[in-house]
Amino acid sequence: MHYPEPISKLIDSFMKLPGIGPKTAARLAFHVLAMKEDTVLEFAKALVDVKRHIHYCTICGHITDTDPCYICKDERRDRTMICVVQDPKDVIAMEKMKEYNGLYHVLHGAISPMEGIGPEDIKIAELLARLQDETIQEVILATDPNIEGEATAMYLSRLLKPTGIKVTRIAHGLPVGGDLEYADEVTLSKALEGRREL
Ligand SMILES: [Zn+2]
Repeated sequence: MHYPEPISKLIDSFMKLPGIGPKTAARLAFHVLAMKEDTVLEFAKALVDVKRHIHYCTICGHITDTDPCYICKDERRDRTMICVVQDPKDVIAMEKMKEYNGLYHVLHGAISPMEGIGPEDIKIAELLARLQDETIQEVILATDPNIEGEATAMYLSRLLKPTGIKVTRIAHGLPVGGDLEYADEVTLSKALEGRREL
């Protein structure tokens, strides 16, 4: 199929997005063509802005446009607890539940020997540095309920044992092999409530 170059370029760009094949990309490109110029400019600006203005919180690693992020900054939050998750999307899932009022630490991944991802490749050193602060009394391991998430939780629980800080793992109401961010709020809330000490 021969499209004028600007259209084929846009199609190629859409195909860089997850789950978008050539057919959908072409459909989206023609949709953009039919949109008002203002709307297209707004869309383009949103794409650029997310890249320019969103970065990771230097304390917890969550996505933010301020540093520290609104959670780390919030004095009303319980500073004795840190919930360790793999991904910023997991923080958003936990926050939606509105039952957890502690702090977070985003690992940005999980240990996976299969993919060659070791403890030094994720934000574990940063977590240990935060735990030097004596206010932390509990670390909740809320990594995903799959092989990598479990391996990471096991590794962290062994690593943290000598610190004397209470280490808990969220319960397995969560679907095994699943992803924390897709858990519904009730399941997630039960998983948090049923967390057990490691
Ligand atoms: Zn933060």
